[in-house]
Amino acid sequence: MNNSTISANFTTGKRKVAIIGVGYVGASIAYALTVRNIAREIVLIDKDIQRAQGEASDIRHGVPFMGTSFVYAGEYADCTDCDLIIICAGRNRRSGETRRDLVDSNVDIMKNVIASLKPYYTHGTILVVANPVDILTQVASDLMQLPNGRVFGSGCILDTSRLTACIADYLSLSTDAVKAIVVGEHGDEQTPVWSRAAIAGVPIDEYCEAVGLPWGDTQRQTLHEKVRSMGASIICNKGKTHYGIATCVCYLADAVLNQRQIIAPVSSPLVGEYGVKGVSLSVPSIVGVNGVERRLEERWSEKEYAQFLTAADRLRECLESL
Ligand code: NAD
Repeated sequence: MNNSTISANFTTGKRKVAIIGVGYVGASIAYALTVRNIAREIVLIDKDIQRAQGEASDIRHGVPFMGTSFVYAGEYADCTDCDLIIICAGRNRRSGETRRDLVDSNVDIMKNVIASLKPYYTHGTILVVANPVDILTQVASDLMQLPNGRVFGSGCILDTSRLTACIADYLSLSTDAVKAIVVGEHGDEQTPVWSRAAIAGVPIDEYCEAVGLPWGDTQRQTLHEKVRSMGASIICNKGKTHYGIATCVCYLADAVLNQRQIIAPVSSPLVGEYGVKGVSLSVPSIVGVNGVERRLEERWSEKEYAQFLTAADRLRECLESL
């Protein structure tokens, strides 16, 4: 395994978080952060000021029985002393749309957000959640010009959570026992890394053989299709997805605010790892106070690696067309 050291060390203190874009996703993240008591101060920023004020009051009224977070509606100037800035501004998918169909409108919104944020930015890590998250991470990172990794995207963390849940269901096990990740694009070209999937440290094919469960291409394809289409099927049922991503973002926020050094498949601008440059994609990454502090180069199967490179090519084409 090769490692690449990325950002310089940096320390945090106030655990202050800004959330830019307080629609379903941004508000759910703010709520989840207060429930888990991860941030001391949470400022909600939206071009729709009334919406931000409404969400801030609603969330704040639950805090007295839960924790100590101070939640309020603010403006870009409030980002100045933030440790973490989470960007959720952008329109969401309609039924039948792919995440890449959001490129034109959400790249414009991202440019607008970064132009408003930059004059007040001092030191925080920036976490991009709006879709298409890999494209927007690359755009935000290019515009901010910070050390590599300080801007990163939630990437395949949600797909990984979904895959973990699907495998656990198939094996009738707790999700704690399952270690499996999705890498590459947070989108249709995502890659589940079956070659490294393990159950309590035992390779998944060995585990299935030991307990007498079928494990082969059919099972893998069925599980992957379920994971890949899960966002679209939730949108078809209720119009949007927000709780799942909110919980995943809390996990990442905890890693940044409390220097947890977790390893998670998140998106950041690759600089040659896996033979890819100038595109943001999810690979196993150490996440701490500086955002993505290190990307890990694992060995995957040839098929997995080829799928990852296809996603990189498609995203590069998309970036070049902007
Ligand atoms: P939403 O429409 O409910 O909220 C978007 C918010 O962004 C609105 O409140 C809007 O006023 C605000 N906004 C738009 N332009 C802005 C600007 N220039 N400055 C500040 N605020 C601005 O949408 P949502 O359901 O909350 O989804 C938000 C984004 O998150 C979408 O792009 C969606 O696709 C994405 N998403 C990502 C994941 C993931 O896994 N990364 C999961 C679910 C949704």
